[in-house]
This record gives sequence, structure tokens and C-alpha cells, in this order.
Amino acid sequence: MAKPISKFDLSFANSGLSPDNISKAQLSCEATTIGKAHLKYLAEKAVVTIYYLGTTADLARITGAADADGYCHPVFLGKQYNVYVVAGDRKTTFQIGDIDKTSVVNKDSKEIARILFHELSHARFMTEYPNQGTGHEAGAGESSFLNAQVTYNVSLYDQRFLAWIQAFENQV
Ligand SMILES: [Zn+2]
Repeated sequence: MAKPISKFDLSFANSGLSPDNISKAQLSCEATTIGKAHLKYLAEKAVVTIYYLGTTADLARITGAADADGYCHPVFLGKQYNVYVVAGDRKTTFQIGDIDKTSVVNKDSKEIARILFHELSHARFMTEYPNQGTGHEAGAGESSFLNAQVTYNVSLYDQRFLAWIQAFENQV
């Protein structure tokens, strides 16, 4: 086993995103006690590959799920995971009549750190607590991190998973 490997999906380069934000996000994640603990745990127990992508549309192409900023795919449950992190947001730059001109901008590095941590939490949860789900049900409000106004639908979370997220939020 080894530390997670980071890879950049072709959509990352095609979107013109900055790898600097990824380095910052990884450092933010590792700088928290729980983030560091996750990475240590996963380095010992599993093989994790992290893929950074352009936008939610690029993730949807891989997972089929719309509106998600991250995804943890168990390639081999309990042993091997592919973690996907969306690094960019599509923003409207200007409008002419019915035409919206859009471009892709870098997500804030803290936001990327949150997504990365969240998905690593899934990998750890599925490894540490086999056959107990992924850590939360669908629609648990995981991507509502904007402006640090995190709204959790607590009833949809496993309390152990939620405790990890809250420990992270307190330090990041
Ligand atoms: Zn999740």
C-alpha cells in the first residue's frame, strides 16, 4: 500500500485550470488532524487514486450522476478506490441575447480540499466499516459548503462519518 496518487483527467487541462490550487488543497487537507489520519489510514489499508476533473459535467460523464462535485468509486471494495474531485466551476462570463458565453474558473482551494476530504472519508468508511454503507445516504447535503454555511441533513449521515466531516470543518 502507498500514499494516494494524484492524476489529472484530460478535462482538467482542457478547462485551463491551475494545478496550484490542487497543491494548496492537498496541503489544506493534510494540515488537519483528521485529514492526516485519513491519509495515513488509507496509505496502510488501500490503494487510492485521485483524479482531478474540470467540471461537474466531466464527472457526470464518468459516473452518470449530475450535480456532484466528487465521487468515490470502490474499484475493489475495502481495498482499492478511485476518487474523483471536480476542480472547476462553469461561470457565465457574458450574455448576448439568448447566448450565454461561459468559461471554466478554478474552485477555491479550500472548497477543493473539502471535496477531497469528503471523498477520502468515503474510502476510509467503506474500508473501516465494511458492509455499513458509504457514510451517508443520497441527498445528504454534502456539497452545500459555500461560504462555510454547511447544512447537513443529519439524519441521512452515519454519525461516525459526520463526526469526521465536522472535525475537518473545525480545522480547515
Ligand atoms: Zn458523499
